Amino acid sequence: MHANAAMSLIIEDEAQIRSFLRISFEANGYSVLEARLAEDGLLLAGTRRPDLVVLDLGLPDMDGSQVIERLREWSDVPILILSARHEERDKVRALDAGANDYVTKPAGIHELMARVRVLLHEKPAQEMASARFEHGELQVDLSRREVQVGGAPVALTRKEYELLRLLVQHAGRVVTHQQMLKTLWGPSFAGETHYLRVLVSALRQKLGDDPSDPRYIVTEQGVGYRLLD
Ligand code: CA
Repeated sequence: MHANAAMSLIIEDEAQIRSFLRISFEANGYSVLEARLAEDGLLLAGTRRPDLVVLDLGLPDMDGSQVIERLREWSDVPILILSARHEERDKVRALDAGANDYVTKPAGIHELMARVRVLLHEKPAQEMASARFEHGELQVDLSRREVQVGGAPVALTRKEYELLRLLVQHAGRVVTHQQMLKTLWGPSFAGETHYLRVLVSALRQKLGDDPSDPRYIVTEQGVGYRLLD
């Protein structure tokens, strides 16, 4: 392993999962720090400055969203949540507290590493402003505010475009309902998920996307939406 490999901090209390994660990360060329408890994890995050934090939501000593809030007081490090199926509500809270994405346990190594790559290679927001996004037949040019599908321009309303831009800025990552509502309509609209459903449906229609077999926008049930990357 070379010295400048990205370093991941894994905070997980189950030894078996921790060791699976260590093996997976090391096999993909990342170096690994491990913590069994949230307190130890926060300490390591501060002293070793990892490039990525993988956080189990079911830790014995601290609530997951509390760990994230503590980290976010001083760090922008990408945080990938590991959640169990019954932790649906905790997962949404963790994302809204500032985690960047999640995988549901048991996660396959392929899915896990795909999420990690997206988080580690994410460009800063400033660099994003001139970026072009392409996936399948969809092309988005943020600097020109142009959207094309199969080479043909697509006319979007302002809100539809703002939604698409938000998804492009987080391509490959989940964006929660709350994040979308706050960005598009403001903080007082955080509960108005039906606004969002209507807007997403209109955008999908214009892009020729099918929610039951999505080419571009995937519904993350109860959480938010993800633009395929
Ligand atoms: Ca656990």
